Amino acid sequence: TLVNVDGAIVPPAEARVSVFDRGFLYGDSVYEVIRTYGGAPFELDHHLARLAHSAERIGLALPWDADRTARELGRTLDAARAAGGDPPSDPGAAPWNVGEWYARVVMTRGAGEIGLDPALAVDPTAVVIVQPLQGPPARAYADGVKVVVVGVRHEAPAVVDPSAKTGAHLNHVLAVREARARGAHEALLLDDRGFVTEGSSSNVFAVLGGRLRTPPLAAGILEGVTRGVVLRIARAEGVAVDETSVRPEDLERAEEVFITSTMREIVPVTRLGERAVGAGRPGPVTERLHRAFRRLAGGAVGV
Ligand code: PLP
Repeated sequence: TLVNVDGAIVPPAEARVSVFDRGFLYGDSVYEVIRTYGGAPFELDHHLARLAHSAERIGLALPWDADRTARELGRTLDAARAAGGDPPSDPGAAPWNVGEWYARVVMTRGAGEIGLDPALAVDPTAVVIVQPLQGPPARAYADGVKVVVVGVRHEAPAVVDPSAKTGAHLNHVLAVREARARGAHEALLLDDRGFVTEGSSSNVFAVLGGRLRTPPLAAGILEGVTRGVVLRIARAEGVAVDETSVRPEDLERAEEVFITSTMREIVPVTRLGERAVGAGRPGPVTERLHRAFRRLAGGAVGV
């Protein structure tokens, strides 16, 4: 692991930001999680565009522009590779997660006098954390995972725009806490009308009557980079796609359910609470889309 703090690359123990940093005090920050394939960041342009979107939505002036961010990410990846060689591989790891890197880019409004007023922030902070990737194990893809619909509600769009990827994640932390207590891999959050929105760190898809269904962006969800890739792939594969609202009952009667995120790619959901999804095994549409995803993302590195 190496950390780039405002352009200085240091080991984790030396990576410091101020306790007056508003990212720490208020979650007043935006961020991206990016992973590599064959050592190269995947969908980097989309991640950088979303970072700019998130910053714009909360009126945060980013300390680095997109080119600088890409450069600093590249420097930090190079330094991590040089320092550690290839990351160690876990025997249970899925092959496409071996020898790859996780990168978290965090930009905060900076430190200043304590107080909510954003004008108190003087100097925005930029951090890039690079670590060996720890994706879901091969077992998660082969058997599927359990997810639960949690009692914690999704952030209402009128509170914090959920299309902005900000550091204010307390509702997601509490959602994951509830999911773990119920033995689940991921928490699905409902909005205040009872519609399914997204996972704590994933987007959700269902296969209903052979068609792919996912909540629309108008549901006030994060525009997942992986969601975008999956929608592109589905259309190219001739799978009909509906971006329409999803109720918990739709997931219960779906033939297949899966979740997507940068870290997970496409992970089949085979249990929803105490019930099996479909046949209780990863389904054919999920497997087909994941194979197509693998060809796109991993093609260059042959995994
Ligand atoms: N939804 C939320 C709330 C997230 O935090 C994330 C990622 O962490 C996602 C969806 C998936 O987005 P992506 O595919 O860009 O990783």
